[in-house]
Amino acid sequence: MGERVYDVAVIGGGIVGLATAMALVKGKVKRVVVLEAEDRLAAHQTGNNSGVIHSGLYYKPGSLKALNCVAGREALYRFCREQGIAHEACGKLVVATRQAELAALDELEKKGRANGLKKLRRLAAGELKEYEPHVAGIAGLWVGETGIVDYGQVCEKYAGIIRAGGGEIRLNFKVTGCRRDGGELVLSSPGVTVRCRNLVNCAGLHSDRVARMCGVRPGLQIIPFRGEYYKLVPSRHGLVRNLIYPVPDTRFPFLGVHFTRMIGGGAEAGPNAVLAFKRHGYKKTSFSLRDAAQFALYPGFWIMSLKFWKMGLGEFHRSFSKKAFVKALQRLIPEVQAADLEPGGAGVRAQALEINGFLADDFRIKEAERMVHVLNAPSPAATASISIGESIAAIALKNFALKRKIM
Ligand SMILES: Cc1cc2nc3c(=O)[nH]c(=O)nc-3n(C[C@H](O)[C@H](O)[C@H](O)COP(=O)(O)OP(=O)(O)OC[C@H]3O[C@@H](n4cnc5c(N)ncnc54)[C@H](O)[C@@H]3O)c2cc1C
Repeated sequence: MGERVYDVAVIGGGIVGLATAMALVKGKVKRVVVLEAEDRLAAHQTGNNSGVIHSGLYYKPGSLKALNCVAGREALYRFCREQGIAHEACGKLVVATRQAELAALDELEKKGRANGLKKLRRLAAGELKEYEPHVAGIAGLWVGETGIVDYGQVCEKYAGIIRAGGGEIRLNFKVTGCRRDGGELVLSSPGVTVRCRNLVNCAGLHSDRVARMCGVRPGLQIIPFRGEYYKLVPSRHGLVRNLIYPVPDTRFPFLGVHFTRMIGGGAEAGPNAVLAFKRHGYKKTSFSLRDAAQFALYPGFWIMSLKFWKMGLGEFHRSFSKKAFVKALQRLIPEVQAADLEPGGAGVRAQALEINGFLADDFRIKEAERMVHVLNAPSPAATASISIGESIAAIALKNFALKRKIM
């Protein structure tokens, strides 16, 4: 018997790759394989995120983020109910603490309404404590659609559906080479190859590299931004009922340090957004010459640095100084103290940067012959995964001329 040839190989066993493979399998594509470099699924962004089911509040109406977040959020709630995954639509509070933030809060409210949020309530200062008794602010927004979940558990269910539908998942398969062989693609990992007719690149922090490896110019560079967390010590969990966020600085794609109750218990504070010198740079000391040199040689990096140096230095300061981190949190909950926080984990975000220094905000997908490359899938891609997975699968089926119907 000859070597098995897969119809589609999906590179990356994070939530986007798994959701895409699940949609392909549900669309009756027969031979689907997910190739994951690590020895487990959801090892990077997906397994180290905040566990928030985003509402769709922040995104430009009509953008891929807005459309997929809103559709994906509802699909995810449904999926969790059907599959018995622990989750809660607990809602969140966005708190304005300065006059200067009120215009941005108005803007958020408008975007939220344009994105169809029904459980949105503008709050005056005196109403904030009804939702979060320890918060101090001058105004707020209550967003009832927001929720919490463990995305690792969601991924396990996606993987179960892929396997039950005849798809395969191969762990410890880091794709290090890709070559065309007639109508097939040969993907290699040290000592082993996989043949497929088509591929979908969902490699997250490595999506630009995987695209280049496949002979496709990504037209952007992935810059890793580490997000560090603290945990509230158990005796202080009571400071946070659910989720408490600041009004974000709209010049920057991150949401600002916030408090998050976790579905498995406990509450976290963070994440900040510190430039990481390694794509898997989970520690402050992590450094990779290859990774750092790659972005240092990219013109867009220096344009971005000139624009955001002040903000970037502030993030570094907060990373090394717990006092500064606590000060940022005290804007939301004045009574929180350094002793209430113990170190938590960290995640690294893959942020796509364009050559002109523009931080790509929306999801970015690039097609090539027999290939689809997902080059930017930042937050809320976990929330949006079912919807974005179906969209990617639909693009793939069209590109690959596999005539199936994606639900
Ligand atoms: C700190 C943080 C907090 C966040 N909070 C939220 C939140 O609360 N809600 C939300 O909706 N979103 C959140 N996000 C965003 C969300 O987690 C990501 O958008 C999403 O997980 C991206 O999924 P992915 O599958 O694209 O990437 P990943 O989860 O990073 O998966 C990519 C996979 O590809 C694999 N891979 C890479 N290269 C190769 C290769 N050559 N061969 C084989 N495999 C390879 C990697 O090992 C990895 O497993 C957060 C992200 C971070 C980092």
